[in-house]
This record gives sequence, C-alpha cells and structure tokens, in this order.
Amino acid sequence: MNFISTRGGECVSGAQAIVQGIARDGGLFVPETFPSVSVEEMEKMLSMSYAERAAFVLHKYLDEYDYDGLKAACEKAYAQFEGGDAAPLVKIDSSLYMLELYHGPTCAFKDMALTLLPYLLRKGCDIVGIKEQVLILVATSGDTGKAALEGFKDAEGVKIMVFYPNDGVSKMQKLQMATQEGKNVNVVAVRGNFDSCQSAVKEIFTSETCKEELKTKGVVLSSANSINFGRLAPQIAYYFSAYLDLVSSGQIDMGDKVNFAVPTGNFGNILAAYYAERMGLPVGKLICASNKNNVLTDFIRTGTYDKRREFFKTMSPSMDILISSNLERLLFELADRNTTRVKMRMEKLAEEGVYQLYDEELSALQEILWADFCGEDETVETIYEFFEEYQYPMDTHTACAMYAASNYMAQHEKDKAPMVVVSTASPYKFPQDVMYALTGNDIKDSFKAIKHMHIATAMKVPAGLSKLRDKPVRFTGVADKDKLYGEVLKFVDRK
Ligand SMILES: *Cc1c(COP(=O)(O)O)cnc(C)c1O
Repeated sequence: MNFISTRGGECVSGAQAIVQGIARDGGLFVPETFPSVSVEEMEKMLSMSYAERAAFVLHKYLDEYDYDGLKAACEKAYAQFEGGDAAPLVKIDSSLYMLELYHGPTCAFKDMALTLLPYLLRKGCDIVGIKEQVLILVATSGDTGKAALEGFKDAEGVKIMVFYPNDGVSKMQKLQMATQEGKNVNVVAVRGNFDSCQSAVKEIFTSETCKEELKTKGVVLSSANSINFGRLAPQIAYYFSAYLDLVSSGQIDMGDKVNFAVPTGNFGNILAAYYAERMGLPVGKLICASNKNNVLTDFIRTGTYDKRREFFKTMSPSMDILISSNLERLLFELADRNTTRVKMRMEKLAEEGVYQLYDEELSALQEILWADFCGEDETVETIYEFFEEYQYPMDTHTACAMYAASNYMAQHEKDKAPMVVVSTASPYKFPQDVMYALTGNDIKDSFKAIKHMHIATAMKVPAGLSKLRDKPVRFTGVADKDKLYGEVLKFVDRK
C-alpha cells in the first residue's frame, strides 16, 4: 500500500513513510485508501492472541513487511507487558469498560507503539535500502521520551538521543529518563521550556549542513514522534482487540456498535480509533476528552479551531497542548482528501492561529465525534468518586475521559452502546496527584506516595516504577538550547 501526503506533495511506500516520518511538504503521511477488515476476518481474529491481532491489522497497511516477521516482532514487543495481556479490557458494569493500555515498560499507552517502532523502523530501512546507522532524536515533554528510550535501548543499528526541558517534566519522569539503561542511549536536559527544546531539535532536523555532516559519519536522522505512521498503526489494533474481547465474552454480538472515550492531546490515540472505524469496526461515537486546555472541545462543538488562548499547566500534562498535530489527518478526510484545502488551513493556523470548517465538514465530524473537557477540580473529584464507588483507581488523564464519558451517557440515555474508556497511564505514574484525589493529602515524595497508594488501593506497583528508586542515575547533562547539535556530534563520535 502507498502513502500520500495530506498536503499533496508525495507518494511513498509504507516503509519509506515510517523511515522519513514526515512528508517533504510538511504534510503527514496517510494511506492511499483505507484497507477493510471483513466480518469473516473479525470472526477469525476472535481466537487470536493480542500480538497476532496487532500483526494482522499492521499487515493491512504495511504489506511490504512480511507477515511472519511482523508477528514475531509483535510477540516480542507485547511479551514485555506485565500481566500477560497487553491491552486488557476490564468490566466495570454492563455498559462501562476500561481498556487498560498502561501495562508496558514505562506505564503509559505510548508503549503500545514504541515497543514496536524499532522493528518497523529498522526493517523499513532494510526495505528502502538505507545502510547507515539511524539516529533517533526526540524532544519530549515527558512520557514519549522514556517510552522511546525503553523501546530503542540496545536496538541494532540505531542510537537514540532524548532532549527534555530541564524544568518542564515531573520528578518521576525525569528520574525515569536519567536512569535509563542501554549502550545506545543518551539523555540531555535543555535549559528552557518544552517549546524552545522542541524547536531546537527541529532545527537540527531541517538543517542541510547538519544532515550532510552526519552522513559523512555514516549516520541518518529519524524521529519517533506521534506524527510518524509507525506510531499510529500499532494503536489501531487495540480498538479491534477491545471489540473482539467484548464479542468473545458474550457482552455484545458481532456487528453491535461500541463507543470509545479517549483522553486526547496530540490526537494520535483517538485518530487510531477513527482509522479502525474506517476499516470497518462498528463504532458508534468517539468521545474526545480534553483537560482545561480545551481547544479540541471547542473545535468539535463549533468547527472553529482557535489556538489563540491561554496555555494551562495541568495535572494531566500529556494533554497540555494547543496544536494537536495529528488532527491534520482527520481534516484531510473531512475535506474529502482535498489537499489544497488542508494546506490552506494549516498555513492559516500557522499565520493567524485559527481556521474554520465548512458546515458539511462539521456535520460529518459530529457524526462520529463528541467532545467534552474536564477541569482540575473535576479531575480530582472523578478519581475520588470512581474509587469510592468501584474501588478502581485511575490516573489523571484517564479521569478526564471518564468525566467526558459520564457526561455523554447522562445526555444520551437512548444510546445503549457499551462505553469503553481508554486508560492511558498507570495511576502510579502520577502518584502525588492521585493520592491527593483519593485522600486529600499532599505527599511531597513520589516514592512515599506510591507506598501509600499501594496501601490504600492494594493495586500492584508496576515493576518499572518500583525498581526506579535503586537505579543509578546515568545522565546529568544540561545544555543550552543553541548547543544541542554539539551534543549530538559528541554522542555520534563516542565509541
Ligand atoms: C500521550 C498521552 C495522552 C494523549 O495522547 P494523544 O495521542 O497525544 O492524544 C494521554 N494520556 C497519556 C497518559 C499520554 O501519555
């Protein structure tokens, strides 16, 4: 299958799309057509393991990768998840389920794709014919950096370097990255905020001089951020898997519709649900949940995307975002794949900070999506009330989705479709905020908060977090944002 740019410029293979990350015209790679999964194929998938289901869905898009290789890679990736099931569906009551996507090595849903991306990328290089060593550069505001480090550690032919804003990530996230193991990894803190960190990394990516110098050293750059199709594709699989689990446990019949509520930031996770729907999964509504940064809620309700607003730091930091980059892929579909229109809107967003949908596009959008946002107080209340009622602890991001899902159900009593709330992080990843919600206590030390949460909830502490305390800190470097390329060269030259 071929991939085209949302802005019209390019047509490449799936392997090329993954290796390249972003199209040369600045657009995102999208499949030329949506592959379909028939009812017979879904019946066949019922008896498959999670890894087999994932390989099946991936192969629909990446048909130049051989199926057995994909299957082996999925098995290896998802064997690292705790508890034996990479994406367990937990029943709360007859109409409400949680899809837990946080049992991977770094305790956030980013692991679902980033445990697999190294294979997709390395194999992609082989298919395309790239012989050089690949250097992945990542600018992270927290979860992506750790998940990428863990995914790429000791991967063959690949090095990875992560930059994070020195005072823009949580203590836990910083410790997770500073203690990272692996011979091919490097982590550098950058003086400044996330935006300046991100633009400094982008400058290296777009500099021809840097690219040429690295090429003479036998190195090519690639990225692992969420606009890469290799991040999106593995996420489609868990929507199919959740649906199949509902069928095989007799909760629904094949063909019944299911709703999903997704805590949303960069629009990658919920876009994967939309792709699943376009492939034939019986989806009713997709609930797009935001936090106090509610630019997407306004967009889905009114058709106007307006980023000219205050930016809030919240207790669900992975959703603190004003420009949801994956939304461009949805825009492309809403505009009937009119690349000129997509390009025009993206330019308008860059220049004026705002653009607007046509009426018929807005109706098409509201056919499938419904949106709500959850403030800070509501996040705390949701965690507390849900634990009181069901003894089920959830993290701050998942709480936003639960809040939106509850509002949707209260306002649409006639919609009897089961609601699956997508849980994107372990509550232990944000222990202070969750403990504050559960008990009202402000615990300063993260590990103390984890200990108290374990006592309060009896939930198992994930190995990735409990081991953290005793791990030696390996990376303490701090750099100015105009010195990052120098850091890259030092890392490349290190034997
Ligand atoms: C990244 C992240 C999100 C947002 O996902 P998007 O794909 O960017 O919309 C939500 N919750 C957690 C815990 C995350 O790490």
